[in-house]
Amino acid sequence: MTHEKTAATDPPLILIAEDNERNTRLLTEMLTANGYRVCTADDGPRALAAARSLQPHLILMDLQLPKLDGVTITRSLKAASETAHIPIIAVTAQAMNEHRTSMLDAGCWCYITKPVSYRPLLEAVAGALRDSGVPA
Ligand code: MN
Repeated sequence: MTHEKTAATDPPLILIAEDNERNTRLLTEMLTANGYRVCTADDGPRALAAARSLQPHLILMDLQLPKLDGVTITRSLKAASETAHIPIIAVTAQAMNEHRTSMLDAGCWCYITKPVSYRPLLEAVAGALRDSGVPA
């Protein structure tokens, strides 16, 4: 895939909200290999705080996070003017159809299923960034 960057623009920053270390490492590798910058949060309150303070261009949101679930976090972010514009991609376990629907209702741009594979992840990320006007 082509991934052109202008020297004047930093690569998009992606917040990975995920409590499983192995998944975080995998997602980090896939995204940084494609030139994205990443930051991480391993529970719900940290994800909320990171989204507010770091203003990432995109969030990958695990559905099940300690202390606050992904739907609750997404609703909070979408309800606040300083974070409402940030596209959120839900990352869900295979068997959780009703949760996926509530993630989309809460304002997620799309969802991808675990185990996350390379091409669907990158296509979703590129699509969400393009849709929100972030230069690739
Ligand atoms: Mn989890």
